[in-house]
Amino acid sequence: MAEAARPDSNGLFHASLDESLCDGCRLCFPICKHGALLTVPGERMPLVDVHACTGCGDCVTTCPTGALQIQSRIRV
Ligand code: SF4
Ligand code: SF4
Repeated sequence: MAEAARPDSNGLFHASLDESLCDGCRLCFPICKHGALLTVPGERMPLVDVHACTGCGDCVTTCPTGALQIQSRIRV
């Protein structure tokens, strides 16, 4: 069966974090292959580097709480 279409490395999307949903499990950090999830001293939540993020969605499917989401770079 074909995989469902999802945002990919086309520059139109990036991940964003909903801090209210993040429990700081840190499962997402090793998943990002683009160095776009940054650690912040004293903080367990990731900081998304939107310039490095390709919008691949790998972290989104890994996050158990739904705290990471893909959003469009294009504001409407
Ligand atoms: S996987 Fe999700 S809940 Fe865990 S630290 Fe990352 S963003 Fe937060
Ligand atoms: S969407 Fe992909 S590139 Fe962006 S932070 Fe998540 S895993 Fe990294």
